[in-house]
Amino acid sequence: MGPPSRPRSRDSSGAAKRSVIGLSPNLDSRRSTRISASSNSAKPSSPAASTSLSTPDRKVKIKESSSASEDIAAEIVVWTGDTMEVDSPESPTPAPPELPDLPDVIVEDVKVEPIASTSSSPLSQPASSPSLQPLPSTSLEPAPPLHFDIPSALPLDPPTPPIYEPPPPTPPLSPPAPASEVAISPLLHGDVPPKAESSSSSLSVVSEHTDISPALSSASSKATTPVDHDSSKEAMAPSAAQPARQITDKPRRRYDIRPKVSIPPDLPLYEYATQCIAGAEASRLNPYALHPEEYSMLRDHISHTQVTTYLNIRNGILRLWVRNPQIAVTRDEAVGCAKDSRWFDIASLSFDWLVRRGYVNFGCIEIRSSRKPAAGNSPTQRKQKTVVVVGAGMSGLGCARQLEGLFKQYSRRFREMGEDPPRVVVLEGRGRVGGRVYSRSFSTKPKQMSPNFEGKRYTAEMGGMIITGFDRGNPINILLRGQLGLDYHKLNPDMTIFDSNGKAVDFERDQLVEKLYNDCLERVSEYKFQQPTSKLIEGNRDLIDEGRDSSAETHKTIRQTEEAAAAQPYAAPVSEQNMAPQVHLVPVSSDRATGRVHTEPGTPGAQKAAHRVKDIGWTLKQGVNEDADLEIESLIKERDATLGSVIDKIIPQYRDLVDFTAQDFRLMNWHVANLEYSNATNYTQMSLRGWDIDAGNEWEGAHTMVVGGYQSVPRGLALLPTPLNLKQKFPVQKITYSPDHTGKATVECEDGYTVEADYVVNTIPLGVLKHGNVQFEPPLPSWKAGAINRLGFGVLNKVILVYKEPFWDEGRDIFGVLRIPSSRHSLEQKDYSPQRGRFFQWFNISKPSGLPVLLALMAGDAGYDTEQSCNDDLVAEATEVLRSIYGSKVPRQPVEAVVTRWASDKFARGSYSSAGPNMQADDYDIMARPIGNLYFAGEHTSGTHPATVHGAYLSGLRAASEVLDAMLGPIEIPTPLIIPKNHSSLKRKASGVNNKDSLEARLQQYEIEMWDHIVSLIDRRPAIPAKPASNAYIFFSKSNYDNARKKLEEGRRPGKGKPSANEVRVMSAKMWKETTEEEKKPFVEMVEEQKRAYADRMAEWKRLATEWDEKATELRMKYEKEHPPPVANEEGEGNKRRRGTEVESYAEPDEDDGIVDEEDVAMDG
Ligand SMILES: Cc1cc2nc3c(=O)[nH]c(=O)nc-3n(C[C@H](O)[C@H](O)[C@H](O)COP(=O)(O)OP(=O)(O)OC[C@H]3O[C@@H](n4cnc5c(N)ncnc54)[C@H](O)[C@@H]3O)c2cc1C
Repeated sequence: MGPPSRPRSRDSSGAAKRSVIGLSPNLDSRRSTRISASSNSAKPSSPAASTSLSTPDRKVKIKESSSASEDIAAEIVVWTGDTMEVDSPESPTPAPPELPDLPDVIVEDVKVEPIASTSSSPLSQPASSPSLQPLPSTSLEPAPPLHFDIPSALPLDPPTPPIYEPPPPTPPLSPPAPASEVAISPLLHGDVPPKAESSSSSLSVVSEHTDISPALSSASSKATTPVDHDSSKEAMAPSAAQPARQITDKPRRRYDIRPKVSIPPDLPLYEYATQCIAGAEASRLNPYALHPEEYSMLRDHISHTQVTTYLNIRNGILRLWVRNPQIAVTRDEAVGCAKDSRWFDIASLSFDWLVRRGYVNFGCIEIRSSRKPAAGNSPTQRKQKTVVVVGAGMSGLGCARQLEGLFKQYSRRFREMGEDPPRVVVLEGRGRVGGRVYSRSFSTKPKQMSPNFEGKRYTAEMGGMIITGFDRGNPINILLRGQLGLDYHKLNPDMTIFDSNGKAVDFERDQLVEKLYNDCLERVSEYKFQQPTSKLIEGNRDLIDEGRDSSAETHKTIRQTEEAAAAQPYAAPVSEQNMAPQVHLVPVSSDRATGRVHTEPGTPGAQKAAHRVKDIGWTLKQGVNEDADLEIESLIKERDATLGSVIDKIIPQYRDLVDFTAQDFRLMNWHVANLEYSNATNYTQMSLRGWDIDAGNEWEGAHTMVVGGYQSVPRGLALLPTPLNLKQKFPVQKITYSPDHTGKATVECEDGYTVEADYVVNTIPLGVLKHGNVQFEPPLPSWKAGAINRLGFGVLNKVILVYKEPFWDEGRDIFGVLRIPSSRHSLEQKDYSPQRGRFFQWFNISKPSGLPVLLALMAGDAGYDTEQSCNDDLVAEATEVLRSIYGSKVPRQPVEAVVTRWASDKFARGSYSSAGPNMQADDYDIMARPIGNLYFAGEHTSGTHPATVHGAYLSGLRAASEVLDAMLGPIEIPTPLIIPKNHSSLKRKASGVNNKDSLEARLQQYEIEMWDHIVSLIDRRPAIPAKPASNAYIFFSKSNYDNARKKLEEGRRPGKGKPSANEVRVMSAKMWKETTEEEKKPFVEMVEEQKRAYADRMAEWKRLATEWDEKATELRMKYEKEHPPPVANEEGEGNKRRRGTEVESYAEPDEDDGIVDEEDVAMDG
């Protein structure tokens, strides 16, 4: 129960303001500030200009090329990896190879159009959030000194005397840095350092999808998290990360903070709740449920009902981070998300977990370590551990940067252990960073630099290229948009597929074949590995949606409740209680830009084939009835069945059902090539059971490319906020490790240079591990070696062509080309395999590259063939393909061409991992598991996001977390974790005994009594009417539930059971999509009617509430007259808080106290 609502004060603009008096300065406000670059700070060496790394016997100079030659040279570069001198962007621009038949390029003719990037200037935001602006990226001035002006963070690990005292007022934090000081990311775009420019906007990372669908969040709460441990596998090789350890002997941490200080007082509660939910979703966490690790950490400490409050706090911390990831969240800020001091410890625990697991405070942010000396050895005696990270790709750099941050945040803990925070050394074999993210500079430069491209590099992506959406948890969103402020280009998803004769394929036919292809995949999905489910301990969704905590508190912990339930006769054991439902995902569409398959919950292969093909729009052949089906079972049972071996035999079976032409075969094989592109291998080399192991983990939002090169992201990780201790051109040849953690590890480079380490994080690509030229001592155990063998690692190659001017449709970013098989009109699947992936997919990358450039993919067999093909032949074939579409406008030779050969690259040995034919369900997890002091990261260690840049990065965060846990042990949990409501210390606080600020307690008590008095006379304030559904689809799906179910039951195959609720939902969504505007009208009208009725109810409620407020104010004044409020005593008590002020209550608000803020009402209305 809280104090009565009071008349609100208004600011000069007339806006209603909540008058919360006695609050410490709100910590949330600083999160809308940005990192600033102070002009008078000490100058670090310009990271891009040159960085010297010395070792005892070597000195290596990392130098960025600054050659900005404007000459255009005709060139074909054969790129086989960084072993070739010509390849390095750091080395001088290579001389054009002798290709006498290449025409001289007329420099004046080259005109590069300004790039209309859909990028971050200003970034799209929801209206309510502060706008995010890209950081100024370029200038010809030298790079400004980098200085991250972060408000002085309180030490993260302060001494921990007992708490329960009322917390003293929060010391004011440093004011936000003036906007004019903002600057960041020198040289992230390349050769020319940028100038510090001003930006007045504050920053928040926003999603392109501002509408938050709770249903989706829980559905997507699969293990898409950096750390995902499966206890069943621990026996084989224990993981390093243990969630937490209970402590009772240590004094509790004390917080100089007030409850709620991180909750903006002027934000309506539901708006705050929406932002918290969005924060969790943007961090890959289910806002409504505990992560399995949180469950294990908390199950002995909190009850089911307390989960809601915990989740509100945890989501609140994530909100702070996501809204401004240029500033690290401090422990005090995190604790300030609790609405009651009893919850400070659990807020602090949540903060530790989020920090350690890399949900907050990751990336290119400066984190200040505690400068306070800790008890222990003097500095000269202190030990220092070493972590060696092998490989400077996204995983290695992500891991090293994260370790640096974690070691700073936990520096006090290390000092308490008598150690300096460990040092991190990165050993990289190549002469550059980024690994398979490599934006190779062109020799060609435009005569005139477009202002949009100033300071950026003219590059093409040899490797990782597409960011597959920023929304719903892609950490690249935080790095690229939130921290580095890089420009990006949104890919236009519209694409045309050209047939082998150069004519565009009929759109309808294209759609029909695509649906059939998806049907094929759906049918084989029946045989996929079953994904294990995990515990689903949910909070109260309604309360979380409203931003309210639960006031009900049972004292049984989650464990006690589960064990009591398990003790009942015929009850499920604890391990089977509260499990998330098993969700089957079926392919529904494919992403043409990436070849990835989109899935939805459903029952695979539920309908008979003939019924289905008719349903998707095909006409059944004469004499074929809807009961006809395909024969798949026998194909599955074949020895060595793979995805490709089965689908190759399914496709021809459709010919028995429908008329399937040679063009349909070409189209079908185009989709197969696209799938082979996303897996970098022929689909006959893919596991039937595991080919789609990462299904359901896709991000949302448009696909994008970084303007000026994706490599800016790994460069940012390497350089910001301060350069990592990175040694390039240090190829590692042997790693000696200690499987039982008893000794040190040594890492030996090819030239004999050796580093001793306490921990090694190995990010060497799977291809290199398979190749076996890096030696492990002792040899890797069979469980690890087995996974290395079973997982696939194939090749995708690219042919990149630079032209003087574009001859293609500049408004399109992607187009496809159907390839003809050796036997032109073949209706045999096997004839299509060698050709289908050759130049099948083209990207117009002019906008991100700054030059007129086309990039073609060589997928499946074609990827391997490229390794052996001669450049002239490849360029000639590409030209022929382009001429078939664009005719004689296509020059005989491009100005410059680059061919990748990833399999020949000794530091990659291929492109990315895939589910090999003999893969086991947990092979990716096995790849991730450490062995003693040897840890593993890399895209091939991410079962949820393999073969991607973001997967590699997340794996680096996971490995960093494991190393920290191994060093510090699990997170410590004080007990009791939540102070019981009737705890003596709280009683002391309430009675004012030994209370530093007893006036506050008396005022609080006074307010409560007055409130009781008022309610006894005029009852509670009228409750706000519930909001009605505002979406016509909701009405549609309700009234069409039975229709959707019936539709699913038609043509259902025997043994498939009844359609699940999920399937029905998906079907009604499909039906809604197909409904015409006219048919939608009645449902739209229902919404309008509801809205009108709601507006009437609100108007009536406002009238009653105003009346109530007036009466309450009158009664309050009368009460104050008759019962004067407490005043300060003679000792000067309450100097800070005067009579009449409103005091923050330490009691948890009663969720049904009927008090509604005017702001809430205003927004609701
Ligand atoms: C052609 C191609 C296209 C791709 N397209 C996309 C895409 O569009 N979107 C996407 O998300 N992903 C894409 N990827 C995948 C993505 O690039 C990778 O998954 C990711 O970059 C891998 O990062 P990593 O850190 O695991 O490995 P790497 O980047 O390979 O890093 C490993 C590092 O280890 C170093 N190394 C190797 N051996 C040694 C040694 N002996 N000693 C020292 N150092 C060594 C390497 O030089 C490298 O720097 C693509 C990849 C390729 C090749």
